[in-house]
Amino acid sequence: MTWPPLLRLQEALGPDSELVIVGGAVRDELLGRNHADWDLATRLLPQAVMAKARTAGLKVIPTGLQHGTVTVILEDRPVEVTTFRSDGDYLDGRRPETVRLGVGLAEDLSRRDFTINAMALPVGGGDLVDPFGGRADLKAGWIRAVGDPLQRFAEDGLRPLRACRFAAQLGFEVEAATRSAIAERLDVARKVAVERVFTELDKLLRGSEPQRGLALLAESGLLDLWLPELRPMVGCGQNRHHAYNVWRHTMEVVCFAPPEPAQRWAALLHDAGKPGARSVGADGEIHFHGHEARSLELAEGIFDRLKASHTLRKAILALIRHHGVHPTTAWGEAACRRFLGRIEADGLGLAPWAAFRLADLRAKGLDWEASQAEHAALMARLEGLLAAKPPLTVRELALDGAALMKLAGRSGGPWLGALQKRLLEVVLDDPAANTPDRLADFVRRDPAGH
Ligand code: ATP
Ligand code: MG
Repeated sequence: MTWPPLLRLQEALGPDSELVIVGGAVRDELLGRNHADWDLATRLLPQAVMAKARTAGLKVIPTGLQHGTVTVILEDRPVEVTTFRSDGDYLDGRRPETVRLGVGLAEDLSRRDFTINAMALPVGGGDLVDPFGGRADLKAGWIRAVGDPLQRFAEDGLRPLRACRFAAQLGFEVEAATRSAIAERLDVARKVAVERVFTELDKLLRGSEPQRGLALLAESGLLDLWLPELRPMVGCGQNRHHAYNVWRHTMEVVCFAPPEPAQRWAALLHDAGKPGARSVGADGEIHFHGHEARSLELAEGIFDRLKASHTLRKAILALIRHHGVHPTTAWGEAACRRFLGRIEADGLGLAPWAAFRLADLRAKGLDWEASQAEHAALMARLEGLLAAKPPLTVRELALDGAALMKLAGRSGGPWLGALQKRLLEVVLDDPAANTPDRLADFVRRDPAGH
């Protein structure tokens, strides 16, 4: 269980280096999960690691010498090698004031967050070093703090969120004392930088069992620190179209949506506006009129606070914006093309829209077989229409802006956009009308243009 190029590093550093694989790589190897990087640790000081690795012809980058970390490039992959270290006092709930190098492996492992992350595997061969029962916890599916969880969560406020994230990624339970310590250390968790919070939430959402992480966030109160807008969803009852309340439905959509950032974030936020839009009609039926617009507003606020990237935001908002439109096979061709044009103009492809729609339908918890069949029929129809490559947006009109200005004998202005919109309506109704001649005819006869 290791990656052969690591042996080359072991050879370069020598037998006294006590080079071990640590942290997430050990955990994921034992679970047979893929992992992006190898984290290594050694008793050698960073200067010695650099010198020995360079002597052996390896490329080395001094990435974080003050923390004991150098990066060695092995077969074009960066591998972090960190000197065994212990953490000094945590004063701000975020990072240790100092780190001390030159300690033993046992001390290095004891500063790590959870037992499943506090194991080491010697690169040169030998037994797993597992002082806190990490292997047993891996087998049992437990996330358990190393040492006293109240103290560990007081040191670093990110750890409680990491516990929720690992529960979602690995499908594990958080052990009782660790779990109850989360709620008692919210004052420390509150101090964590939003960029780190966003990264953890993103990993949580993309996990294989995100509902575990989300349930923990709601139960512990972490939800109220970073996503307070979502609290009203918990317990918010729905109507006969749904088997579950809004929060439970949301957790189900997150699970069923493809594990990609835009899909999972959109799933989390798509119905956030429902509690605020809830009304009871004269017939006693519950409605959520206009909830998409409210969800969009809440999502914007959340992305501002968590500093989400522009590209991701745009993709998430497009999914939320169009989730409430439910085309059916009863729609006419022109209406279907209008729908396809609207999502395309918003940068949303039919496939991601459909994947999200399917997750949303499935998470209603009702009539899944019938919904699936209906959805398949709808997709056959929409894909059939797309296959004919009809013009769907202004950009695809057979006459571009310059040609229209020439034809109308006018320079650019708001009239041009308005005319393009009218032309688009014409070709959405009848794609065959999208020829220069027919569009020119229309412009000449267009009453609004004169
Ligand atoms: P992944 O890389 O899959 O996100 P990981 O467990 O490898 O998970 P990293 O952030 O790469 O997480 O950290 C590597 C190791 O460093 C962890 O396994 C853990 O041993 C330790 N570690 C990371 N963050 C903390 C923390 N906040 N407190 C204590 N130990 C930590
Ligand atoms: Mg890692």
